[in-house]
Amino acid sequence: MKIAVVGAGAMGSLFGAMLAEAGNEAWLYDVWQEHVQTVEQHGLNIEREGKARKVKINATADPRQIGRADLVIIFVKSTQTKSAAETAQKIAGPDGTVMTLQNGMGNADIIAQDIEADRILAGTTSHGATMLGAGRIRHAGVGATTIGSWADTDRGRQRAKQFADFFNSNGIETEAVADVRSVVWNKLLINIGINAITALSGIKNGQLLDLDVTRELSRCAVEEAMAVARAQQVGIKDNAVDIVFKVAEATAANRSSMGQDVDNKRQTEIAAINGFIVREAKRLGLEAPINFALKALIETLQSHY
Ligand code: NAD
Repeated sequence: MKIAVVGAGAMGSLFGAMLAEAGNEAWLYDVWQEHVQTVEQHGLNIEREGKARKVKINATADPRQIGRADLVIIFVKSTQTKSAAETAQKIAGPDGTVMTLQNGMGNADIIAQDIEADRILAGTTSHGATMLGAGRIRHAGVGATTIGSWADTDRGRQRAKQFADFFNSNGIETEAVADVRSVVWNKLLINIGINAITALSGIKNGQLLDLDVTRELSRCAVEEAMAVARAQQVGIKDNAVDIVFKVAEATAANRSSMGQDVDNKRQTEIAAINGFIVREAKRLGLEAPINFALKALIETLQSHY
């Protein structure tokens, strides 16, 4: 199969490389010239559990070089989804499938402005990756991937099943589900409970659990988001707060992705995480003061880098 990745940072490079190693024609497209040139000339260097390997994969900063692909995976940060979707539309042509495993809510709806919803597969992944430099990533965690059609149609569901089978046969453990909105929402709740709080306070994920007051802040943010999900009739887990605390414990030594963005003075995905809850709460006539405060503080911090 021919696959193109739009946004070949840590995660995009990882997924592109796993599919290239399985024997597919995989292409990485990124606006970061130095990374693309390094990969094109020397291959992609992947570190995992202290060992390094090199993967040969096509890489370009010009999407026209790719031509058409059967599957386009969008892995930009959510702030860049609109521009990535416009590129993906050209690469996918009239029949290709576009997949997003990005964090936050709203990515699939943004992609759906350019591509029919039953050609969009959304989902989540428990793989983790970190960018080490141009042409170098670390595969930090291995886990399951879940995908589903963004449109509630037979055609969409068939596509989700087809690509889950394809990923599984290529060594990427993947499940196709009927209700992918719930899956994306449940991951969002984890990001709501951890990301902005750790980013603002400079702590690691596990330190969220040290003080009652920090746990309480996280609980309030998640419960506001759960009320929004329920008002939208989204099937979320009742024990979402406990899940957030379990994830914080399991990833205790990690700095959250938003924490890393703030540390490196990069724009964060706040608009697709706490910002999404604030917008939706307003639309539904609900209150979300904690998510508003977290969003406002992150935006203030970002504007003063
Ligand atoms: P990243 O910053 O490493 O990679 C994003 C890449 O997109 C960058 O290389 C950037 O140059 C490129 N880019 C920006 N604008 C572009 C455009 N218009 N066209 C093409 N490329 C463009 O980010 P990441 O850590 O790989 O995360 C990507 C997404 O996956 C985010 O939504 C993140 O929350 C999610 N995610 C990350 C992890 C992780 O472990 N890193 C795990 C699960 C989900």
